Amino acid sequence: MIAVAVVGAKGRMGSTVVDAVNDAEDTRLSHTIDHGQDIAQITPGNTDVAVEFTVPSASLDNVLALVDQGVNVVVGTTGWDEDRLAKVREVLERPEHRNQCVFVAPNFAISAVLADHFAAQAARYFESAEIIEMHHPDKIDAPSGTALNTAHAIAKARRDAGLGAMPDGTRSDAGSRGQVVEGVHVHAVRLRGLNAHEEILFGNPGEQLVIRSDCFDRGSFMQGVLLAVRQVASGRYTGLHTGLETFLQL
Ligand code: NAP
Repeated sequence: MIAVAVVGAKGRMGSTVVDAVNDAEDTRLSHTIDHGQDIAQITPGNTDVAVEFTVPSASLDNVLALVDQGVNVVVGTTGWDEDRLAKVREVLERPEHRNQCVFVAPNFAISAVLADHFAAQAARYFESAEIIEMHHPDKIDAPSGTALNTAHAIAKARRDAGLGAMPDGTRSDAGSRGQVVEGVHVHAVRLRGLNAHEEILFGNPGEQLVIRSDCFDRGSFMQGVLLAVRQVASGRYTGLHTGLETFLQL
């Protein structure tokens, strides 16, 4: 049994992770920690992997504290830029932490990660590509980080294949063509009833390919979280790793 602690356990994601850990046959809950509780309770003596879903302002300190205590961490909280990742990488390189692993994923939904991967593979074969991301209206950023990643991946694949600009005769500055990310148009829909959805459209004369990912609720992230927990607990990974694709053997 893999002993899993959950940090941010009363939150929307944290409580879903608690249920997933309790439901899985090979994991058991070792500790739950929320705002105001002492994270030092989580130690290698009682926990194999801590899962951290809190708030961007607390996440780095939580992860550094867990690493300092000798604990492996799977992190889902957003806001992990290069500076934050570099701090964790640097601590993990110290001799006393060389056997530990921290894994950070901006998106634990396998469908979304695969959609990104397949889009990068398809991009070189099509004249046109556009992205439509659709989310619940309470999401504060637009376009979504996932859609931005997809756009960058498509742009890189097009550059690597020597493709030029996409055809677009609109000559419109009216704002109806979405945000242009490295030449890729990204459209954001915010609609009550939706959760997290992305469509990546590719076009050639006479044909179209649509890659679509639908995450209907928070359960969509749990298969990815448990996969990360199992991989980190296996001891095969040390140091800092990012992105669920690390474990998907793509
Ligand atoms: P949430 O419902 O607000 O939950 C956050 C929880 O963390 C709350 O219970 C909060 O307690 C607690 N918390 C705050 N500061 C803490 C600290 N210093 N130590 C321990 N616990 C602390 O948010 P959520 O919807 O679960 O989302 C959590 C994070 O996951 C966000 O950054 C979100 O963007 C991200 N997310 C990532 C993915 C992914 O696939 N990677 C998917 C969905 C969401 P209080 O309310 O008492 O402050």
